[in-house]
Amino acid sequence: MRRKLVAGNWKMHGLKADLPEVAAIAAAARAKPRVDVALCLPFTLIEAGVGAGGGMPVGAQDLHEADKGAHTGCISGPMLIEAGASVVIVGHSERRGDQHETSHDAWAKAAAAHRHGLNVILCCGETEVERDAGRAERIVQSQIEKSLPEGASGDWLTLAYEPRWAIGTGKTPTLEDIAAIHAIARAKLRSMVGDAADGIRILYGGSVTGANAAAILAVDNVDGALVGGASLSAEKFVPIIEAAASL
Ligand code: PGA
Repeated sequence: MRRKLVAGNWKMHGLKADLPEVAAIAAAARAKPRVDVALCLPFTLIEAGVGAGGGMPVGAQDLHEADKGAHTGCISGPMLIEAGASVVIVGHSERRGDQHETSHDAWAKAAAAHRHGLNVILCCGETEVERDAGRAERIVQSQIEKSLPEGASGDWLTLAYEPRWAIGTGKTPTLEDIAAIHAIARAKLRSMVGDAADGIRILYGGSVTGANAAAILAVDNVDGALVGGASLSAEKFVPIIEAAASL
């Protein structure tokens, strides 16, 4: 039985003044021990967020595949570990779009993160054009095939299906569409890692809110949520944690 994971992605939001939100989210997470909760913060807030979170896993939203080197503006796995991070998102569609990252980049980053002992949330998901062209399933399969690192297991890797057109838009796929993609993702994992696929959590992400979380989290093969906008405040994020705990 896979435990639900509710992970927040603060993206480029959050200053020290927002640390009370981290503390409030962590307190709510402690009250729901059946659910795993994590927050992926901006780099500058990780260390303080670990302090405010009182044991709740805190992570980052990207890392460089190299351990160190001449890579202006980048951050490495050892730096994240030193800051106290325990998890990192790789392959998020905003990085695929804004920074032109490929599935191969996500693969290299996921492998680097694992090498340094970080848990990985590996993202995949189609664009609206790809969905309209009936290619969503093939795109997700191909992204998983190209980005899943060797030896992937649920001990350290989580997959997140995030249709790009649902991120930050208030639009979500139908529950049937979510079920279809998650089943395909599970089958793809199984074809690549065998029975270990059963232990890998597959999160849904894209406009998850307190209002739709219970229905989405009840879908087959949905093992949690990756939440952007609604993770920025305890008021909006805690209902999602509670929805996961109620299942
Ligand atoms: P959203 O973002 O919840 O604001 O749609 C999700 C994500 O990008 O992880």
